[in-house]
Amino acid sequence: MAELNPFKIAQQQLDEAAERLGLDTATHELLRWPQRELKVTLPIEMDDGTIEVFHGYRVQYNTARGPTKGGIRWHPEETLDTVRALAAWMTWKTAVVDIPLGGGKGGVTCNPKQMSDREKQRLARGYIRAVAGILSVSKDVPAPDVYTTPQIMGWMMDEYETLIGEHHPGVITGKPIPIGGSEGRGDATARGGIYVTREAAKVLNIDLKNKTMAIQGFGNAGQYAALLGQTLGLRLVAASDSKGGVYNEKGMDPKQVVEYKLSNGTLQGFAGAESISNEELLQLDVTVLFPAALENVITAENADKIKCKISCELANGPTTPEADEILYEKDVFVLPDFLANAGGVTVSYFEQVQNTYNFYWPLEEVQNRLDDRMTKAFHGVYEMYKREKVNMRQAAYLVSVARVAEACKLRGWV
Ligand code: NAD
Repeated sequence: MAELNPFKIAQQQLDEAAERLGLDTATHELLRWPQRELKVTLPIEMDDGTIEVFHGYRVQYNTARGPTKGGIRWHPEETLDTVRALAAWMTWKTAVVDIPLGGGKGGVTCNPKQMSDREKQRLARGYIRAVAGILSVSKDVPAPDVYTTPQIMGWMMDEYETLIGEHHPGVITGKPIPIGGSEGRGDATARGGIYVTREAAKVLNIDLKNKTMAIQGFGNAGQYAALLGQTLGLRLVAASDSKGGVYNEKGMDPKQVVEYKLSNGTLQGFAGAESISNEELLQLDVTVLFPAALENVITAENADKIKCKISCELANGPTTPEADEILYEKDVFVLPDFLANAGGVTVSYFEQVQNTYNFYWPLEEVQNRLDDRMTKAFHGVYEMYKREKVNMRQAAYLVSVARVAEACKLRGWV
């Protein structure tokens, strides 16, 4: 279905912004497409001695504002178009938080849940050998995303440094702290989302104390959102992962839910909660909904059943353009993905800066700097939303696309 092709959606969202900004045809066309994309085929030895051939991608969407930056996703349904869409969203994300980077993304079509650590390490190293030619601190810098971890980043960095024969920790971010990671990177995506939720509640005059939250997707972003949502006074009433969810209207202790998920690999069976489907979770009457799993979960089919006051999109692309319109009409305040989840790339940028200086900041400094950036980004977008009377996603696009278009123009590309 065209509605659900993430790259077509990304292009459609850009088209709307381009029209509103009155972009000239050349700039608009340039921003509709990645500048460079690499498709790689990776023969990897599995533990039983057989060779499995994986397909991988690296897309560098736009470099006008700086080297491209974006995570690497390992997922069975990864395609070139999902990577292109995610790379486009990274371009708008780095621009909306105004960091001097472009946007890129990588992916491998694979099922890491069925792979041993040794197989994952061979895949990580094979991927880096295949794409190393287009990576470097000043060209393109990957990071973790769905089903990739700090450990995988560590193997990737090591392979890259082995290839070039020198230390270059800034070539990849989201690394474990002892080998060049930053304090505060682990929870940065969710923390950034919490900061913008706090700012949204202020402008909407919502007191979040003892209000409810539901979280779809219980990995890095979702688990930290549960833990940090508490700092705003939010009560966790529902959480889900790929196997379904759990619900307790009185609230669940986020720490216990996280511990249960980490030790059992699933949320099913969490004591004192009833089962709930992913679809039901999205439709709960909660104050804040955190979509924190994958794309296209809020569509024209279910948007009119969404009852939250604020949807803080920690996932990339959870809402289709048709659903966006419906949510806007229903007064659901959407914190769009590339604003709401920009905390991750912001601290990744801090990690790169620290790697370059070989001098590391304490946690408090990282968190304060993140808060400053996210709060400023939120209010920049919110001003545009008020002024242009568009939804928050369109407002964020207007801010970002204008910045990237200006950089393209100043470079003399268009
Ligand atoms: P993760 O791999 O740590 O967790 C993903 C979670 O989603 C898992 O709990 C998984 O069970 C769940 N999930 C998968 N398919 C699902 C389905 N069909 N229904 C419900 N749940 C499902 O990944 P993450 O890093 O937490 O990323 C989650 C989202 O946040 C992605 O869209 C990612 O692009 C986005 N994001 C992550 C970061 C980051 O720094 N981690 C930064 C920006 C955006």
